[in-house]
Amino acid sequence: MQENLVQKIVEEVLQQVLKNQPSLQHDHKIPVGVSARHVHLAQTEVEQLFGENYQLTPKFELSQPGQFAAEETVVIAGPKGSIERVRILGPARSLSQVEVSFTDAIKLGVTPPLRISGDVKGSSPITLIGPRGSVVLKEGLIVAKAHIHMTPADSTRLQVKDGQSVQIKLDGVRPIILSDVMIRVSERYRLEMHIDTDEANAGLIKQGTFAEIIQAPSSTQQAAQPVVQQAVSLPELPESKATYHFTKKLLSQVEVAAIPEPEIIVSKKTIVTALAHDKIRELNKTLTVNKE
Ligand SMILES: [Zn+2]
Repeated sequence: MQENLVQKIVEEVLQQVLKNQPSLQHDHKIPVGVSARHVHLAQTEVEQLFGENYQLTPKFELSQPGQFAAEETVVIAGPKGSIERVRILGPARSLSQVEVSFTDAIKLGVTPPLRISGDVKGSSPITLIGPRGSVVLKEGLIVAKAHIHMTPADSTRLQVKDGQSVQIKLDGVRPIILSDVMIRVSERYRLEMHIDTDEANAGLIKQGTFAEIIQAPSSTQQAAQPVVQQAVSLPELPESKATYHFTKKLLSQVEVAAIPEPEIIVSKKTIVTALAHDKIRELNKTLTVNKE
């Protein structure tokens, strides 16, 4: 009796918490974040621009855990022009990198490559100017390729893999479709699609819009792009599409409802609430407890 009551309360609280998680509330909808031009700096360059032993000052946290926008800004300069007050994002990284839109690149007079963040080898040179000095980066200027950050659980739910390229529809006043959007999976990420200001402007997209993967990776893409699939050559997931491996600590009815697969596999340690059991029955699903 007592235990039942506790479960009911837990369920209530959980529903409130889950309401704030767009990935579950909107099922397959992915929140969109628009990245304005910004700079990531290695500590060496932080000190060259701001002084010895200088540490970046966090201004506000970004959506991806641990990332922040710093108080500090720099001027970025190219052969044709410069852009002032470009925000630095922290914490300091191993390699400095500047991300701009193609529109910015035209103003600077450079032709940076379209790259995934972190891949700066052979990218364009750029000059950074800070209050205490300037730095000429021989490479590091890129236009960031649209990508989607997600956790391993999101990738299972959305049936996509790390490094995979997908097609995306962006809702908005002027809906657009983006192809070759890269999936990036890590325990450290939170579900969010990142586009730059050119892409956002093309679709008149504001923060808070949602994206949807419109290309089903299991059927359409394999048929249309067999070469790409071979090149990626990721090992096939052992489970069939009919099962969903639930990896979190607590399975509630909200999550049961959001899982399309008929069979849900949980670990022995996962707590399944009473209402979740009811939902499983109601939706004619099966629950399998993994005994490892
Ligand atoms: Zn990103």
